[in-house]
Formats: sequence, C-alpha cells, structure tokens
Amino acid sequence: MSVVIGIIFFHHQPHAGYTTPTPTSRSLVHKTLLAREHRGEMKLFSDLVGAATSASGNAISAALVPLIWASSYLQTDPLAVAHSILKTTPLIDGHVDLPVLFRYIYGGDLASPKVDYKGELQGFVDLPRLRKGGSGGFFSIAYVPCTKIPEGEREDFNAPTWQVRDTLEQIDLTWSLAEYYPDDVAVVTTPQELRSAFKSGKISHLIGIEGAHSLGNSLSTLRTYHRLGARYLTLTHTCHNAFADSAGATAGQALPPLHGGLSKIGFRLIDELNRLGMMADLSHTSDDTAKDVIKHTKAPFFFSHSGARAVHDHIRNVPDVLLDQARDSGKDGIVMVAFLYPFVGPEGNAGISKVADHIDHIASKIGRSKLGIGSDYDGGFKFADGLEDVSTYPKLVAELFSRGWSRNELRGLVGENLIRVLGETIRVGDEVRAKGALPDVATIDGRPDNGPGKPTFDSEPCKRSNAGLVK
Ligand SMILES: [Zn+2]
Repeated sequence: MSVVIGIIFFHHQPHAGYTTPTPTSRSLVHKTLLAREHRGEMKLFSDLVGAATSASGNAISAALVPLIWASSYLQTDPLAVAHSILKTTPLIDGHVDLPVLFRYIYGGDLASPKVDYKGELQGFVDLPRLRKGGSGGFFSIAYVPCTKIPEGEREDFNAPTWQVRDTLEQIDLTWSLAEYYPDDVAVVTTPQELRSAFKSGKISHLIGIEGAHSLGNSLSTLRTYHRLGARYLTLTHTCHNAFADSAGATAGQALPPLHGGLSKIGFRLIDELNRLGMMADLSHTSDDTAKDVIKHTKAPFFFSHSGARAVHDHIRNVPDVLLDQARDSGKDGIVMVAFLYPFVGPEGNAGISKVADHIDHIASKIGRSKLGIGSDYDGGFKFADGLEDVSTYPKLVAELFSRGWSRNELRGLVGENLIRVLGETIRVGDEVRAKGALPDVATIDGRPDNGPGKPTFDSEPCKRSNAGLVK
C-alpha cells in the first residue's frame, strides 16, 4: 500500500489485451542472443537434431529438423517466450494489497453476492486476471494506515493501539480466501509449499505485514503474526514507529529523522526477524534505516516494492548508495520493482519501458539475480501504462526478453530469485534457533501496563453507561 486511498472510485478496466511484439523483437540480433545466452536450451535443441538425424538417416527423421528449427524460431517471439516461462515458473509478486481493497470496497465480506474473486472484482486483482497474467502468486498484504493513529499517539510508543486487530483481520481475510476458493487459492509459507501449490494449479497467497506499527510496539505480536503465516514485515509505512525511521509520505516529502535509522529495539526486531526466518522489508524505510539493516541482518536484504532513485528521484526508490552497499555487503537479497505512480515516474509519463529501466538500472548495480516484481496492485489506483493490472505481467517479461534478458534470468526475475531469498531467510532462522536463540521478550521501555507492580490486572468493576461498557 502506497497511497492512502481516499474517496476513489475504482472503475474496472477492461482486461488488457497484449500488444503485438515490435518488429525489432524478432530480429536476427535477438535470435543470436537466444543462441548465445541459452546454452542449456540450445544443447537440448542440438540433442534433438542429433537424435533425429542419427537414428537411421532416413527421410522421416531428417524431415523433423526444419520443424524443430521452426518451433525454435517461434520461441523467439518475446510474448510467447514470456508465456512459456510463466507456465513453468511461478511468478510471485512481492506486494499486492488485495486485503486492503477488499476491506475498503467490500467491507471484507467474502460472503457478499457482490464479491466474486473468480469473477470480476473492482480494483486490479481477481482470479481471471491473475490466470490471464500467468501469476503463480503474490504476497497478500495486511496494511493499516499509520496516519490514522492520532497525531499525539503516533510517536508515543506506549499508547494502546487498534492496529493489531485490523492487521489480524486482514491476515484472516487471506486465509479465508483459501476456504472460499479452495481450487484456486493456497496460503503458503515456504518455497516447498509454493512449488507444490504451483504444481497443483493453485495461486499462492503469501502473507506480508506492511509497517511495524502493526506490531502494536511488541515483539510478541511479531511472533504471533509469523505463526499465522506472515513471512515479511515492512519495517515502516509512511510514519516513524518504535523500531525504525520511515522515508516519509508517498507524495515524496522526506520526514525529519526520529531515531536516525533503527532504534535500539529496532535492532532487536531485526534479530528477532532473523531468528524467526522472516524477511525485513526495506521499502518505505528511510535510507538510514535501510543502511542499518543491510549492515546488521544475517538474512538477505529485501525491498518488496521499490524502484531505482537514479531512474526516478523519489524517496520510495532505492538510491545508488544503498545498492552499492548491498552489493559490497556480499549478501544475497532482492529488490522487487513497483509499477505504481508516483514511484515509477511522473504521472502519465511512464510505461513498461520505464519499469524495465528501473529493473535494468538496479540489475546494473547488484546483478540480475537480485531482481523481482513488486507491483503494488490494489495499493493505489494508477500504474505504469501497459501494466494496468495483474493480467499484464507477460508484457513486462517480454520487454525484458527483448532487451536481452535470458530465459533463466527471467525465471529468476519472476519468481526464482524471491523463492531463493525466502528459502535463505528461513534457513538463517533455522540456523539461529539451532544455536539456541530464544524469543526476545523485550518490551518498549516505560510501558505502563507491563512490569513489576504495574496495573496489568484491575480489580475495579465494570459499569454500564449508554455509551457502552466503561470502567
Ligand atoms: Zn507500500
């Protein structure tokens, strides 16, 4: 979620059709690239030709050769290549705000006759469009606006909050989707579960929490979210919180720092995320927070929905200095690139090629194996031209194929890189726990309800009033 959704009327866009590939995409240069960059597949091809010609030397076998060549040529069509990749590799989008929009438009009521995930939903995500776009799944986000916390309480980290309830309701919504649509939806938490869901034709829904304000300032809450399936926590949304500084508002105004990066308990939050095997998402954080985390974490770095600041200067995008730090750290990681205005570019001035520019720039810094897709669908209402909804993923894959990305690199971009990073994060957690690390039960200093002699239990009777039950 990147834009606070005010009064927005979602007009369902007609499902986007695919554009005809450009003539250059079919060029000889492209075929040459194919031959050079896909040695594995070319080896397979030459094996087939060899088998056809050496079997008996007869005319039937020899006749297969041009057919094999012809099918190889067809596979150089970027869109055909994109679709073939998505048939065999689960595309996992790092950030989709489906539960947020469900609550906003439908009150989270899956039983309502107006709600048909298998039909047409308002917004940018539903099963028919996911199928059309070759989606293998996405992180389904639980998000509560930090800006709705009253001003005075926002940086009072001992104030009681309702964010936990609303976050839990959205986690529940993702799990409930799997009960309402069991043939199509699987909630998954590990690479193994994800691959098994893909094999059985289901769309994986992973759970992410957007903003550590959703923890209600408690590490205990984090563990509970993890047990409920959450596999990443974005450290901040647009406000500072008890654990970390935020970059600031989506509109682009930077916030003056509060902690100057991670707070003292913020470092402990990273340790606890490492221990659990849960990803610490750096999209939305301040540069200082991201810098602290890249240095401190034992797990891969992770940005769920950000672009490159060098391509479009916005506080939500990753600056080169952080990309350099990430590369020099020698750590694995991933930056999943968003399609949403205003991160992708000035409104009305960004299309598929601009998103590809973000991807190519980040790849030039940290390598193509550390890239992914984190659209932010349903988290705002205006996306890069040509990438209007989840049915359009193949067009981006085709664009990158036309730019010389190999099939293997594209398999990485759409899903394998994320699967590797998630697996590695889980492995780090296994390792940390195997060394004996136990849950960190630290609370925020000065919390009035928790500690020796503090009034956790109250013997005063409840009284009734017209406004409800009050003490
Ligand atoms: Zn966001």
